[in-house]
Amino acid sequence: MADKKQHNKKYNNNNKNADDDFNPRLKKMRKKVCILCSDKSFVLDYKNAEQLKKFVNDKGKILPRRTTGACAKHQRDITAVVKRARHIAILPYSNE
Ligand SMILES: [Zn+2]
Repeated sequence: MADKKQHNKKYNNNNKNADDDFNPRLKKMRKKVCILCSDKSFVLDYKNAEQLKKFVNDKGKILPRRTTGACAKHQRDITAVVKRARHIAILPYSNE
C-alpha cells in the first residue's frame, strides 16, 4: 500500500505533462479496487486474526471504505466478520 503510493508520487514527479495542470486534489484520488471482488480466492475468515488486522486500525477500529477500498457489499461482510471476531476475543474491541 505504502509502496504503491510512493511509486505513484515518483511517477507524477517524472511526468512532465502533469506539471502543466497539476492538481494536488486529484493526486490523492486513486481508484481503489475491492480486494474481495478482485481476488476470488480471498475468503473472509473470522478466525483468521492476521487477515482481519488489515481491516482495523491500530486502535482496533474498523477502517472505512475509503481506506479499505472495499465495495459496499464486501464492507458489510468485513464489519460483520470483524464484530464476530471481537465477540470471540480474536480481535480486541479497543486497543487503548
Ligand atoms: Zn467487493
